[in-house]
Formats: sequence, C-alpha cells, structure tokens
Amino acid sequence: MWGFKGQIDYVCDNCGDSDEIPIDDFSVECTGGSERGMGAESIYELIYEFECARCNQDILLSFEVSEYPAEVFNFAINNSSGATTKGEPEFEYLREIYSAYDLITFYESIPELISALRSSPDLMREITPREFEAVVTEIFRSKGFEVDLTKRTSDGGKDIIAIHTDGLGIRNKYFIECKRYAEDNKVGVALVRALQGVKNIKDGPNKTILVTTSSFTSGAKNYVENEASSKWDMTLADYDDLVGWLNDYQES
Ligand SMILES: [Zn+2]
Repeated sequence: MWGFKGQIDYVCDNCGDSDEIPIDDFSVECTGGSERGMGAESIYELIYEFECARCNQDILLSFEVSEYPAEVFNFAINNSSGATTKGEPEFEYLREIYSAYDLITFYESIPELISALRSSPDLMREITPREFEAVVTEIFRSKGFEVDLTKRTSDGGKDIIAIHTDGLGIRNKYFIECKRYAEDNKVGVALVRALQGVKNIKDGPNKTILVTTSSFTSGAKNYVENEASSKWDMTLADYDDLVGWLNDYQES
C-alpha cells in the first residue's frame, strides 16, 4: 500500500511570489491505465489550483504520475502553469498490518515482534533462528540481565551470553542456546550433552539454558535431572515456558 507525499515549491511567473504546497493538499484522481508487460500501469493526476496571493495570477500545479508496475513510482510529468515549480510528488509506502503474521514480517523493533508473538505464540516457529535469538535476548535484557547476542559465526553452545547481578551484587554468568525448532522436532540428549560440555571452558558460565520452540525428549530431561554432574547446571525451557516469558514481557 502506498500514498503520495512530498511538497511542491513554486514561484509565481508574474510577480515572483513563492511558497510551498504540501502534496496532501492536492486533489488526486486516477485518470487512466493500461495493461503492460509487467501488469497494469495506472496514471494519476494531482492538481492544486489557486490564485497568486500577491498578483492574483491563476496558478495551476499539476502532475501526471505513472505507477508501473503496481506499487512502483514510474515517472511524473509536470503540467503546471502560471508558476515555476521545484519538486514532484513521491510515493510513500505504508505498512499494511492486518495480522500478527504480517507483523512478524514488517516489525520495526524486537519489542514489536515480541508483542506479535505474544498474540500468536505459534509464530515463534515461523521467525528465523536469528530473530528467535534476538527475541530471547530481549526477554532476558528486560529482566535485568546484561546480554550479548554472539556473532553468527561463533559456535560452541552460546548464542547468548547473559550476566545477572543479584541484589547482593553477586554475579552469575549464563550461556543460552536457542533452538527454533518445529513443534515435532524435539531437542534430544545429544544437544543437552554438548551444551553441558561448554560449562568447562575457561571463563565458562555458572549455568547453561537451552531454550526451544519445541520440547525436550525424555532422554534430554533425564540427563539434566540425573546424569549431569548437577541438575543445577542446566535449565531446559520449552515452548510453554516461552509462552509464559512472552506474556510476562514488559518493554523497558
Ligand atoms: Zn503572482
């Protein structure tokens, strides 16, 4: 969807008086069109007619604008008379938002994306893995964590590094791994085991968190509960946990 925007500066040919007229004040009429190679071409006539405030000369500001192909500004012909003009009408593309699905495509900020996901949480599985990481990062940031979304190239089970300082000034470091998976693609024990491994690197985290838009196999859950050196090492957060986080999210 689009509309016209801009302004036309004019100088009266008779007396030199000048001013500017916003395109919003012009009358707009679709005066024709035709089918061409790339679909329909539409012609619009934009007109603003008035008398010069100083000398009463008739001034006509008039532009013929071609839209071709659809939604694309093609050219403008200046048919003005009585004044010399500067500028021409421009296209302004407007966002058309009908649904949360549109919003996950056209969002302008991560908080806006989160609000769309809150109304339709299943769309968490439609956004890109990188967008999902950004959403999780923002959720932790809003809860007071110092967060760092790591570069795409780095790996080794730390999509996000989050540091939390509690009320006593005690700092804890978390590695957060994000898996934006389809509903039936459960996170298995191999990933859990690999993430457990990164705890042992130098300056590794106190705790790791595995967040997924799907769920965890019983093997994965069993590993964390019973086989890891401590069940406090890792937290598994699944789709239902994420829905809770989304609902709890407050932009700050
Ligand atoms: Zn004039």
